[in-house]
Amino acid sequence: MDMRHQDIRDSVRQLCEDFPGEYWREKDRDRAYPTEFVQELTQSGFLACLIPEEYGGSGLGVSEGAAILEEIQAAGCNGGACHAQMYTMGTVLRHGSEDQKRMLLPGIASGELRLQAFGVTEPTSGTDTSRIRTTAVRNGDDYVVNGQKVWTSRIEHSDFMLLLARTAARDEGERPHDGMSVFLIDIRELKGKGLEIKPIRAMINHATTEVFFDDMRIPADTLVGEEGKGFRYILDGMNAERILIGSETIGDARWFIDKASAYACERTVFDRPIGQNQGIQFPIARAYAQMSAAKLMVERAADLFDAGEPCGEEANMCKMLGSEAAWAAAESCMQTHGGFAFAEEYDVERKFREARLYQIAPVSTNLILSYIAEHVLGMPRSF
Ligand SMILES: Cc1cc2nc3c(=O)[nH]c(=O)nc-3n(C[C@H](O)[C@H](O)[C@H](O)COP(=O)(O)OP(=O)(O)OC[C@H]3O[C@@H](n4cnc5c(N)ncnc54)[C@H](O)[C@@H]3O)c2cc1C
Repeated sequence: MDMRHQDIRDSVRQLCEDFPGEYWREKDRDRAYPTEFVQELTQSGFLACLIPEEYGGSGLGVSEGAAILEEIQAAGCNGGACHAQMYTMGTVLRHGSEDQKRMLLPGIASGELRLQAFGVTEPTSGTDTSRIRTTAVRNGDDYVVNGQKVWTSRIEHSDFMLLLARTAARDEGERPHDGMSVFLIDIRELKGKGLEIKPIRAMINHATTEVFFDDMRIPADTLVGEEGKGFRYILDGMNAERILIGSETIGDARWFIDKASAYACERTVFDRPIGQNQGIQFPIARAYAQMSAAKLMVERAADLFDAGEPCGEEANMCKMLGSEAAWAAAESCMQTHGGFAFAEEYDVERKFREARLYQIAPVSTNLILSYIAEHVLGMPRSF
């Protein structure tokens, strides 16, 4: 298969060799953060690839970022532990003040600071972001924040967090999404001072939490960009996120396909390799075809993004197609392994659980389909 950015891929692959299945199994079992892996990735500069050189990063594009994350997943590792460190800073880079950028970006580039948490989702307003209830009310030189977020991942392993809160009521603006603002908050200073974090034990090891804000005071200069425009800023970052997560799903699909093909050749039942049966071959071959098509869409979306062209359609489609290809591959790998798929030591069950996430987060398949139906095909808005 044609592989872009082969040098980057080779280095990532080499790094991942030090983190075999055994390492991830142990982290998964203990629901522990893969600190050593994240440190290695940080020190190698991979997580700073999208930060411009003037702020200490390597100034590469989403296309290179995608190659990095794809290889991590294809090696059986899990970039979900830190992928947001790569792209969350994009909101500050594009909309933050020069002071915010100077305070944050060089630290992220050197690995001293982590900004890999973002709080958008709330318990009562999942996909419908316009209904978030967390408020930030201006009070002198501060804002006072009250409310709750859910599924805020990696916050326990971040220094800063991007927080979306309402600074004006939903019915006050022209559109429902007006009146939300983004804040860049310093978790280290706020923990125990109105900020409480509760881990959620989930199906996968994703360091995800619930976060509570109780009269949490934050300085007014934590506001990113203009008050009330936060939703637009978050949306701006979503295309990069979708492309990068799309690339992770391609990596997942590759891992499942490689694992399934190898096992199909090796496992002998009825005196012949199970891979000689078309019933075993075809689902793996089909998943390969799906993955290859989705990979082209990831590359197309990344090229458009890096050229500064509109790419909402491609970014959404590559995430959806990739997550479905990964799932088809996961299913074929599971079936090919038979009972052994259930044994932890094969890593299939862990990857199977992990790969399922991307049809739901960061945006679910239905929401992507409704985007295509409405914004690409011009059909009526359905909600
Ligand atoms: C492990 C994990 C990590 C996460 N990390 C983060 C994070 O770091 N930060 C963050 O802010 N969020 C995070 N999320 C939240 C994630 O983005 C949401 O779960 C996701 O956007 C879906 O929202 P919801 O769960 O509230 O689903 P809901 O909005 O309740 O939707 C439930 C189902 O109904 C469907 N649905 C809803 N409305 C419609 C409609 N109009 N038409 C058709 N179908 C519809 C959806 O597609 C979905 O399948 C994470 C979630 C998980 C599971």
